[in-house]
Amino acid sequence: MSMTTRKKYRLNKKGKVAVIFIFLMLIILTYFTWGLISNQKVVAKNSNLSKTSSLNYEKPSKELVKKPFPVQRDKVSKETLKKDEKVISPLEESGNKDIEPPLETGKIVYLTFDDGPHPIASKEIIELLDQYDAKATFFMLEPNMNRNTEIVKTMKEKGHTLGVHGITHDVSKVYKSPENFVNEMNRAIDSIHEISGINTHLVRAPYGSKPYITPKFKEASDKNNFILWDWNVDSRDWQLTNGEFVENTITQVNHLVEKEPIVILLHEKTTTSAHLKRLLQYFVDNGYEMRAINEWMIPVQFK
Ligand SMILES: [Zn+2]
Repeated sequence: MSMTTRKKYRLNKKGKVAVIFIFLMLIILTYFTWGLISNQKVVAKNSNLSKTSSLNYEKPSKELVKKPFPVQRDKVSKETLKKDEKVISPLEESGNKDIEPPLETGKIVYLTFDDGPHPIASKEIIELLDQYDAKATFFMLEPNMNRNTEIVKTMKEKGHTLGVHGITHDVSKVYKSPENFVNEMNRAIDSIHEISGINTHLVRAPYGSKPYITPKFKEASDKNNFILWDWNVDSRDWQLTNGEFVENTITQVNHLVEKEPIVILLHEKTTTSAHLKRLLQYFVDNGYEMRAINEWMIPVQFK
């Protein structure tokens, strides 16, 4: 009997030791497991950091990019762009091919003129731009270019940018099908090439990309390497024919300045050229630079 009790007692003692041992092991295990988890967290954090910093190294920081626009850069193949020798991107030259230069958001405006050339208005516009040391972009219609080839050549000589706007400017024709749209733009592109030697990819869709450039039109446009440009300031010069478009433009520019790149829609019309001087004078007086669009810029497109 006493043997059994002793045995029981001994077993109990062993049991107690075992329990304490297991308890200690559990504590140690928990300690190490916890340590391992937090260590992994730190590692994960660090790897994120190094990813970010390597991104920062390869690509410009947000501040550098200044992409305030949720705009899509149209895919233009390097092959096609190589054919166009008129502009060499300084960023391409620097070897960093991933960077696409943003449009400037400072006191810079991009004047764009549609529907020309016009035999009287265009000459006046070019002269005024010259006078104010301004560069602009012209989105032109094929029949007008063919009627005013000298004006197209002058635009090129003066350092302005040439783009296309199609042939008919008639919604029922140009937007009849993606093929019609592409054909009109390509024929206008060919005209610019024949007249000036410039191989442009810059396209302004008549009435802008909304609502006419549906996904099918966009697809056809991308296949042809078109770079579609809309605007964010509509001067409404087509409607405000007594010069009120100048004030209308200035008001909108003041809202966007330092926030977004400013792309202004104007037209090659005599009612525009007649009052353009006032607008250019305002920009010069207020420290704005007037620049031309190029093919390496991220195009401004309607959202
Ligand atoms: Zn137009």
